[in-house]
Amino acid sequence: MVGYRFPETGADDVTIKILFCGICHSDLHCARNEWGVTNYPIVPGHEIVGTVTKVGNNVSKFKEGDKVGVGVLVASCQKCESCQQGLENYCPNMILTYNSIDRDGTKTYGGYSDLIVVDQHYVLRFPDNMPLDAGAPLLCAGITVYSPMKYYGMTEPGKHLGVAGLGGLGHVAVKIGKAFGLKVTVISTSPKKESEAISKLGADAFLVSSDPAKVKAAMGTMDYIIDTVSAVHSLAPLLGLLKVNGKLVTVGLPEKPLEVPIFALVGARRLVGGSNIGGMKETQEMLDFCAKHNIAADIELVRMDQINTAIERLAKSDVKYRFVIDVGNSKLQ
Ligand code: NAP
Ligand code: ZN
Repeated sequence: MVGYRFPETGADDVTIKILFCGICHSDLHCARNEWGVTNYPIVPGHEIVGTVTKVGNNVSKFKEGDKVGVGVLVASCQKCESCQQGLENYCPNMILTYNSIDRDGTKTYGGYSDLIVVDQHYVLRFPDNMPLDAGAPLLCAGITVYSPMKYYGMTEPGKHLGVAGLGGLGHVAVKIGKAFGLKVTVISTSPKKESEAISKLGADAFLVSSDPAKVKAAMGTMDYIIDTVSAVHSLAPLLGLLKVNGKLVTVGLPEKPLEVPIFALVGARRLVGGSNIGGMKETQEMLDFCAKHNIAADIELVRMDQINTAIERLAKSDVKYRFVIDVGNSKLQ
């Protein structure tokens, strides 16, 4: 299967041979049309890492052979207030890496494919010391948790961060939280994830959300929560874990709306916010930050012909902690 935006490399474009692509839960939501916006057929994949094979005449940022990444967006208007602030991720005309209509009227196809052609502005430099396969998930999972932590001021060393949902986004949030010097508690529905969360991922504590005694003891102890849960769930128990003035940022995108428990907000001046990936400049900053702190995802590498099994396991929260496809067959045969 070959997915590409333009058959030719345009003047501002970079053609990339894809080596690895992460499987994000958004790929699953979209493949199953859980958000009701899927325009079939689609080629998912927006955690793309590869090698530059060709550059257009105007391209100065990259050359053939460079290791690069592409995340969730491949174009934006460049004129609106958001674009001018480097917030291409909030441009009303942003074009997503897949399941979008491109400027030339064709559909965009994502990273479960051999190659992609992307405008240089939306291509990231992949740090030298970062593993190509385990680094790929940072292009969506990494920036999606890094950006709100920066924007909402959730980086003060010593403060207590709760991470709800220990999947692709959640496990990277644990690592980034530790790199910012936070105390990190995982809030999970899966007791079996506890020992590794602490021994391998570096979390300080693990709270099983179905354990009423432990949840009660943890009430009012957290300064911030990042909620990465992919399914409909109640916010009230999470808000109860926050201190007065605590902040909960939801990045998960369940298929139906969540209820906002007003009393839990009003009674303790708490805040609920949202956040969508990150802009290009901040995504590069996040990659460089992760390289500096030796942060990459914990992955299960799969071949292209194992995608369906991987997606089924992802639907059951059975992945440690991100599937990555070896698109270029460079590690798996
Ligand atoms: P994931 O790897 O499947 O992780 C989601 C985690 O949520 C699971 O591992 C599980 O953790 C928990 N969970 C699942 N079902 C649950 C349920 N019914 N009740 C409570 N917890 C449940 O997914 P992901 O790739 O990290 O993505 C998470 C969500 O973020 C998805 O909705 C995705 O579309 C969205 N997303 C948003 C952005 C953005 O820019 N805002 C970017 C990327 C992804 P435990 O086993 O620990 O409970
Ligand atoms: Zn994603």
